[in-house]
Amino acid sequence: MSHSSRIKDFVSGNIRNWNMFIGQWVEASERRERHILNPFNQEVIAIVAEGSKEDAERAIAVAREAFDEGTWPHMSGYDRSKLINRIAALVEKHCDELAILETLNTGKTLIESKADMNDIADVFRYYASLANKDERVFIDSPIKNTSSQIRREPVGVCALITPWNYPLLQASWKLAPALAAGNTVVLKPSELTPLTSLKMMELIEEAGIPSGVINVVTGSGATVGSTLAASMDVDFISFTGGGETGRKILGYAASNFKKIALELGGKNPNVVFADCDFETALDYALNAVFFHAGQVCSAGTRLIIEESLHDRFVAALVDRVKSIKLGSGMDDETEMGPLISAEHLHKVEKYIEIGKREGATLLVGGKGPEDKALAQGFFILPTIFDHCSANMRIVQEETFGPILTVETFQTEAEAIRLANDSVYGLAGAVWTKDMKRAERVSRAFRMGTVWINDFHPYFAQAPWGGYKQSGIGRELGKVGLEEYTEIKHIFQNDHPQPMKWFGNQLKGEE
Ligand code: NAD
Repeated sequence: MSHSSRIKDFVSGNIRNWNMFIGQWVEASERRERHILNPFNQEVIAIVAEGSKEDAERAIAVAREAFDEGTWPHMSGYDRSKLINRIAALVEKHCDELAILETLNTGKTLIESKADMNDIADVFRYYASLANKDERVFIDSPIKNTSSQIRREPVGVCALITPWNYPLLQASWKLAPALAAGNTVVLKPSELTPLTSLKMMELIEEAGIPSGVINVVTGSGATVGSTLAASMDVDFISFTGGGETGRKILGYAASNFKKIALELGGKNPNVVFADCDFETALDYALNAVFFHAGQVCSAGTRLIIEESLHDRFVAALVDRVKSIKLGSGMDDETEMGPLISAEHLHKVEKYIEIGKREGATLLVGGKGPEDKALAQGFFILPTIFDHCSANMRIVQEETFGPILTVETFQTEAEAIRLANDSVYGLAGAVWTKDMKRAERVSRAFRMGTVWINDFHPYFAQAPWGGYKQSGIGRELGKVGLEEYTEIKHIFQNDHPQPMKWFGNQLKGEE
């Protein structure tokens, strides 16, 4: 089905206005609004309330009250689990609508958005299952006639700030464990892509989560985001986004030493040894970097290939890249959509110029498509730079676009050194049929996730996060739930007796 008929089916010519959710659906206090664009053609697809500092403060107060006075933190894990499972079921029921909204708003292909929605349902189910567990552990106390228990308790009010590349997926990685642990929440989606988070809020309401437990404030990072991060009434902030913003958030969070989790950028190596399965490694080298036009924190943007395989591999890559079909994410034939915004397109174009100036060899792409049907979209052709070296900015900095750089190595040690030569440490992959080598290399990588003969898989059960400047803390897995808890040690003296430490000598002398 074509792009226009699918959209027509969906919005039926109506542009929806969205309010924010602060205990209930409310207008923005300053009555300001923001037009939300489809990056494929710059059409307005929705109008969303633009939150102010006052709106953020109101939402924090509502979440605070829901935590301090409400039932949610004290509800049994069993009951919370049932409600979280209901959210998962509603996501599945509304999968098509959510996926279309995500594609219209981000430009990514519908098949990618649908995969995101399935993952989101899985994440809610996984954390529902963890909520339904006894959170108390008794330990052996070293002191006679005493007992000790360790409890995990909710942190309190959590501010969740999310980016535009995986809008609902990133929000769900935070919402599901926050709910499972018994916290209350203020979610601030990216101002560019708030639509699926708002739709999710409708589903959360329908699932029966008590009012005030989840709140969504839409608006800019500078106003709403910074208010949340600096607030004395927020106990924990979980942020996913760029490093520069992450640094600011660390600063704001110092106000009350709130707990913090940061999921930041990556510049991820894809290391290919000559003994790899050629066709599979080739195919995945493309998946690694060109999904969602490279706007993926774990994109495999640095191909590090054994010199003896370089010429054949790179020639085959260029052939495949030339046939990548650009278009609307709503069209079934489209393989790669546009970038998110004019501003981001400009940033990616700047990096292409930097790459040329630095002396890398531009093999393919490096400019926008000539197809007039794509003229209104923020498109850039998939791009490969060969003969790159580790000191180049296009190798070191996160371009967040469809740009692959190619470096070569001769020895395993050199491959590891190049792979680790980054301020980031989010993810990376190694391709080889030698499993002993795969094991050595994967252990030597300084990264939160390493794939052997694969690229990109992640799932609810395994932790996700970065070494070095890729972040602080982990999402997903059991550890992703623990981030949303405080640990309490309750010590009990089973036979209390006077210690007679203070004032005892005086009594003796009288
Ligand atoms: P961004 O840092 O510009 O924005 C992220 C969020 O922060 C948005 O909601 C934005 O409004 C908000 N924000 C902006 N300024 C703020 C401020 N001063 N105070 C508080 N909040 C503020 O990032 P982006 O451009 O939306 O996303 C792209 C980045 O996200 C990339 O660097 C990417 O690698 C990273 N990312 C990381 C992961 C991961 O899992 N590690 C996942 C997805 C994206």
